[in-house]
Amino acid sequence: MKFNKYHISPELKRSLEELGFKKPTDIQFKSIPQILSGQDILAIAQTGTGKTAAFAIPLISMLQEKKRYQQEQHVKAVVMVPTRELALQIQDVFIELAKYTSIKTAAIIGGVDIDPQLQEIKAGVDILIATPGRIMDLVHKSILNLKKIDYLVLDEADHMLAKGFYADIQKLITFLPRRRQTMFFSATINETIKDLAYALVSKPVRIQLSPKDPVSKNVDHAVIYVEMDDKRFFLERLIKEHPETKMMVFVRTKVRAERVAKAMERVAIATATIHGDKEQQDRFDVLDDFRIGKIKVLIATDVSSRGIDVKGVDYVINYDLPDVAENYVHRIGRTGRGVSRGKAISFCSEEEKTILAEIETYLTNPIKTMEIRHTEYEETLAISEDNPHDWKSLLKEAAQEPLKKRKKK
Ligand code: ADP
Ligand code: MG
Repeated sequence: MKFNKYHISPELKRSLEELGFKKPTDIQFKSIPQILSGQDILAIAQTGTGKTAAFAIPLISMLQEKKRYQQEQHVKAVVMVPTRELALQIQDVFIELAKYTSIKTAAIIGGVDIDPQLQEIKAGVDILIATPGRIMDLVHKSILNLKKIDYLVLDEADHMLAKGFYADIQKLITFLPRRRQTMFFSATINETIKDLAYALVSKPVRIQLSPKDPVSKNVDHAVIYVEMDDKRFFLERLIKEHPETKMMVFVRTKVRAERVAKAMERVAIATATIHGDKEQQDRFDVLDDFRIGKIKVLIATDVSSRGIDVKGVDYVINYDLPDVAENYVHRIGRTGRGVSRGKAISFCSEEEKTILAEIETYLTNPIKTMEIRHTEYEETLAISEDNPHDWKSLLKEAAQEPLKKRKKK
């Protein structure tokens, strides 16, 4: 089934075509007709499967229809998301899709001047995207009247709960009109998520994609055994062998992110880091540079990257294995998104083997191992430009040494 066969407006079909979306992904195929028919839905689908458009397409279409009969301008749909980055990212998708329609979307985020955002709402917005905390704020300030909304979307519900938004959402429920259509999206499901979902949806259609395998079928993932101290050489080699490839490299801590970046800098590889210690604006800038390809290698910690959708990330490297098994899925889900394919490689050291076992239990499947022959392993260390034991760099160092000393004085 192609998008042009759907009962959606020609304006939407036109923007879908421009985006290069020809046919729906599995989750879109299952959700869009249900949403268009007015059903509440509860959808569980792996990261990268195209959940945003799964609700954005029908939502825009239904709002276009509604606006034909409704003159009054007010917020008709609210999309709740766990982070500001996601709010902006989803807003971009809505703006892109609604380009040829009169549907207006705004994202309300903290950390930046709120006034222009409020002006925007006053000027007339149909769809509002924000974190539950922000939405609560707007309701209290009487800027937003939730009783008037027709559609509610919860995106990345699991992540919202992990970020401690449970209480906020519970409170928000009391402000919502009884008659509304609710779309609940999550990458994973457990009892708490189910409880929250059933407090919000009514007689929902449940959609779940291949529940047995939490990794999207578009991601080819494997593990290689590397000693902790040798990881940087393997990263160097991988990057140098794939110079034009967009890669995300995951590390365990902020300190390690900076350390790996330094190690790469020493071998003339440009990278950027993203983690919780960075200012919000810095994080936006780094992501933008990565999006447009100015930065090819982004080194990240877990928190800073969930749900982030960057086009054309071909490789995910787990430089360190994640502490929490579930994060393995979120990390490698940064590649192989939509209809594209991706690769993920995890560096596992001796001391990380227990974590690897936990991840495999979580996945209910062993991860493929990429064997490295002893000679290949040694070669990887030897070709590094940062290898103090190879004669070339020893010579180079010797030549630079007096110069450096002179500079210091
Ligand atoms: P999820 O929310 O499930 O993690 P996203 O909504 O962020 O996934 O979509 C992942 C990627 O897939 C995005 O880059 C998006 O542009 C792309 N995508 C979504 N739907 C389609 C489609 N029907 N055809 C091609 N690409 C798509
Ligand atoms: Mg998403």
